[in-house]
Amino acid sequence: DVGSQWNAAELVEAAREHLISPAEEMAKLGTVTRPMLTTGDGVYVTNAQGRRLLDGPAGMWCTQIGYNRREIADAISAQALRLSYNSPWYSVNGPSAELAARIASLTPGDLDHVFFTTGGSSAVDSALRFVQFYNNVLGRPDKKTILCRIDGYHGSTHLTAACSGRAGNRPNFDLALDTVSFLSAPNVYRRPKGMTEADFLEFLIGEFEDRVAAIGPDRIGAFLAEPLLASGGILIPPEGYHRRILDICRRHDILYISDEVVTGFGRCGHWFASEAVFGITPDIITFAKGVTSGYVPLGGFALSDAVLARVSGENAKGSFYTNGYTYSGHPVSCAAALANIEVIERDGILAHVRDIAPYFQEQIRSLKQLPLVGDTRGTGLVACVECVTDPAAPEATDFDKEVSRRIDHHCYELGLIVRPIGNMCVLSPPLVITKAEIDSLIAILRRSIVLTQ
Ligand code: PLP
Repeated sequence: DVGSQWNAAELVEAAREHLISPAEEMAKLGTVTRPMLTTGDGVYVTNAQGRRLLDGPAGMWCTQIGYNRREIADAISAQALRLSYNSPWYSVNGPSAELAARIASLTPGDLDHVFFTTGGSSAVDSALRFVQFYNNVLGRPDKKTILCRIDGYHGSTHLTAACSGRAGNRPNFDLALDTVSFLSAPNVYRRPKGMTEADFLEFLIGEFEDRVAAIGPDRIGAFLAEPLLASGGILIPPEGYHRRILDICRRHDILYISDEVVTGFGRCGHWFASEAVFGITPDIITFAKGVTSGYVPLGGFALSDAVLARVSGENAKGSFYTNGYTYSGHPVSCAAALANIEVIERDGILAHVRDIAPYFQEQIRSLKQLPLVGDTRGTGLVACVECVTDPAAPEATDFDKEVSRRIDHHCYELGLIVRPIGNMCVLSPPLVITKAEIDSLIAILRRSIVLTQ
């Protein structure tokens, strides 16, 4: 059953002929056959050939509670039959109001106001546009530069792509770069040779301070950062990095935007990682993906009351905030998110992540003994296996950029999906994964790396 009137062969043909994917090698357009997935169940998906595959990346870092849960399907269906849409310009719907209040209770500090969008890119884009609005209303039209990091990823709108520092995403697009400034990736594994981790932290903080001084604090609107760089290869900054940068931001009235599109909703064993894992309460948290466990699109940002107070009420100066999404707070998406949050709470999924994560990380670390593996790293239920040609010389840049694709190919044949990124394989399984399923994931990954080396 492929869920269509057409048979599997016709659908594969239609995809090849008519679909443009978000990652398209244009020379091969129309010739590539991507796996067609037809059903899902827990941490597994099944393809059109009937092969069951363990979902190592949780779709695209999003299927937290696993596939095809009745509770979410029922919530979506009930809301679609009750009120399928309302205009957020002149009305509100119950699910968006309740969800905003729920998210306000889950975020740290006074991040009590929520703006909803349609996904992660639009969440970050909206947060960045809020920074522009904020500084314009405050009469600081020059305070607009966004500091971000090489190897960060924040989305695919004009503005968020400009703030994303992954080289592969950039060629042949025009980027809004005049107000973006890139800092070094906090890549502990590839830090300059001879530097201790403590020295590296000082280097990163020093670089940040120098950059603020060079640009001028009056010209910097925000620092935009993932708590851990996800698509950049699970780069976890040295201990204390976020806290110290937040201190500098506060000193210079620079907003701190924590992009929790990946880390939000349980990936690290907490609703959000900023405070619980990294010890900071930012000014803005962006979220998407896990908020609905990927069942329907939704994203948004939560904003601190203190920040909002500076541009609202008697401080509004006649300003009008407009960031007009037809689907802001879509009732069906918000109903799905509420049901998702309820399942996460009812089933104790955050506690499950905290319980099982040490075992997952220990198993990932065991792969380091394989000759092809230079580094393993991770936290919670997210991890990276980085391959190198010579593990004794990790600084070498001549690594095989296709190696993860070959590992991915073997994994797929053996029943596991991984996320290949250059010389890295990234894993972020659904949060409901069991110990036995972790064993199966690691066994297939180990075998695939051995077959590749
Ligand atoms: N921010 C981060 C940290 C992400 O990893 C992503 C996507 O992977 C985005 C933003 C963009 O989210 P979306 O693909 O839902 O637009």
